[in-house]
Amino acid sequence: MIPFLDLNQINKPHLEAIEEVSLRVLRSGWYILGRELQGFESAFAEYCGARYCIGVANGLDAIGLILRAYDFPDGTEIIVPGNTYIASLLPVSYLNFVPVLVEPDPYTMLIDPKKIEQLITSKTRAILSVDLYGRSCEMEAINEIARRYNLKVITDAAQAHGAVYNGQKVGSIADATAFSFYPTKNLGALGDAGAITTSDEALAEKIMYLRNYGSKERYKNEYLGVNSRLDEIQAAILTVKLPFLDSENTRRKEIARRYLREIELENLILPPGDRIDDDAWHLFVVRHPDRTALIQHLETSGVQTNVHYPLPVHKQKAYADLHDLSLPLTERIHEQVISLPLNPVLSDEEVSYIIGAVNQFGK
Ligand SMILES: *Cc1c(COP(=O)(O)O)cnc(C)c1O
Repeated sequence: MIPFLDLNQINKPHLEAIEEVSLRVLRSGWYILGRELQGFESAFAEYCGARYCIGVANGLDAIGLILRAYDFPDGTEIIVPGNTYIASLLPVSYLNFVPVLVEPDPYTMLIDPKKIEQLITSKTRAILSVDLYGRSCEMEAINEIARRYNLKVITDAAQAHGAVYNGQKVGSIADATAFSFYPTKNLGALGDAGAITTSDEALAEKIMYLRNYGSKERYKNEYLGVNSRLDEIQAAILTVKLPFLDSENTRRKEIARRYLREIELENLILPPGDRIDDDAWHLFVVRHPDRTALIQHLETSGVQTNVHYPLPVHKQKAYADLHDLSLPLTERIHEQVISLPLNPVLSDEEVSYIIGAVNQFGK
């Protein structure tokens, strides 16, 4: 069986270095908010082309801390994509803001900038774009709308480490960008971790305090903060893995290029191949009207797949207040998507095997 993702294999090339730095932290006697974190924050800010990076506990908190730091008034509406993972919306709801869901572009499956403007009201304060599957949203159009309506642009880039848009790295394009380093992401820790990048000095400073109880000085609390820190061991591990992100993403692109060229199956919709070199290919998401049968066929052929995601956020039990929304494009995507295995440790032979198995469906 070709597994969808094997974290053991993913981390194997880095294991010795990880063991070494973990032991270093273990023996240092310093585990939270120290030199390892500072080192990673500088390295990741530089990698993204942002002035600041603030490490936090996970991707969900990264989004939440950005929203918290902006201090929007009660009743604020935040524009969000309908087609996303629930983690993009939860922080909006926790803070009692109103998520306003936008249908995707049918080709990219990402938030459609053409459908944003009609949803803006006097209460709108921000657009939260999500670089789902590893592809940057149409940031030129989104930033232009934001400028015109004086809105903040926040990007959930949990799936897009290293992606590029118009020559600019994700993490340096929006006002603030949230990353997750959950173990399965393109840059993954060996536990939970996240970060925010921004070039806004005041925002960066505020988030730095907010993640640590809102405290500027020890035992003096400026803000109602939270506890959301990226610990020293995870920071050291991420520093080990960051220099390999580009080469691992390059391997992802090679595989994506082969899938796009060699997969030929009637009624199968492939993901956009117009920006192969710029996209980070976190997932390779195809669409098929008979998803269940295709998944079953691949399973029987020895190829494990996944579905990102089976049920839209606005149909989740937790989001009962959104159940009346009708988002036909989003809903159809959720009925039809299948993620094929795509990760840097797949061999050429495995890629060929997966392509063959897909092309054999129904034959
Ligand atoms: C993984 C993910 C998150 C949440 O990250 P965590 O670190 O698990 O909190 C948020 N948004 C998207 C799109 C994700 O894929």
